[in-house]
Amino acid sequence: MILADFHVHSDNSPDGENSVIELCESAINKGLSYLAITDHCEIDTFYKDRYNIGFRQSYIEVKKAVSVFNRQIFVCAGIELGQATVNTDVAESVTRLPYDVVLGSMHCLPGKEDFAFLQYETADVKKLFSDYLYELLRLVNWGGFDILTHLTYPLRYINGEQGYNLKTEDFGDEIELVLKEIIKRGIALEINTSGLRQKIKSTMPDLFCVELYKSLGGEIITLGSDSHKAEDICAGIPQGIELAKLAGFNKYCVYRSRKPEFIAI
Ligand SMILES: [Zn+2]
Ligand SMILES: [Zn+2]
Repeated sequence: MILADFHVHSDNSPDGENSVIELCESAINKGLSYLAITDHCEIDTFYKDRYNIGFRQSYIEVKKAVSVFNRQIFVCAGIELGQATVNTDVAESVTRLPYDVVLGSMHCLPGKEDFAFLQYETADVKKLFSDYLYELLRLVNWGGFDILTHLTYPLRYINGEQGYNLKTEDFGDEIELVLKEIIKRGIALEINTSGLRQKIKSTMPDLFCVELYKSLGGEIITLGSDSHKAEDICAGIPQGIELAKLAGFNKYCVYRSRKPEFIAI
């Protein structure tokens, strides 16, 4: 089976541990055919956290790796744009670089901390998750990216870390609005496998959402480990492919020059 990991962070992300070169070597050792380096670029803290420097550094290092490893693996230049709706002018200027792929993500609500750092003791977690889905719909309505990443991200903390048991089924209508919009816009749905190695023990999104996407006519799925270190490259990707099959898919996608290319599974 052809393996592609389309969501990986290097040490050009604040929370990444390994260099682009180390990630590429790990991917080759693990038998991957495609690796997309998709470092963080949080638009809401673009200058404060120096993403304005980091995203260029990442791009240049990936382009070097493309030429070094070009006979062994397709290395793709990507970026994970966080909270793009906070400043779409900045987001659009960043994505003027000729990327292979642009991920769109939402790690926090406007003006709030990352869901990782919220205080949940007094929080209305259902409202929090609904608010997230509403903001995600705004992000998708902007639509300046290729892949919607880790849909249901707050559940990593709400269910995984805090022990609540929110069911995606109970938010089906709101999730459906997001999925219909990405289908209309030709944006892919990522099956993010990082949750399989975290406490939530589930992909993000879960099978219910992937099946819903399929039933609504969605055709473009990608797989991403969301690895922040070399050893996690490709982690959970085979399980993610199995989940895609279970949901009725017989192919998944890689992106080159921001165009999807389908791989049979
Ligand atoms: Zn993310
Ligand atoms: Zn990520």
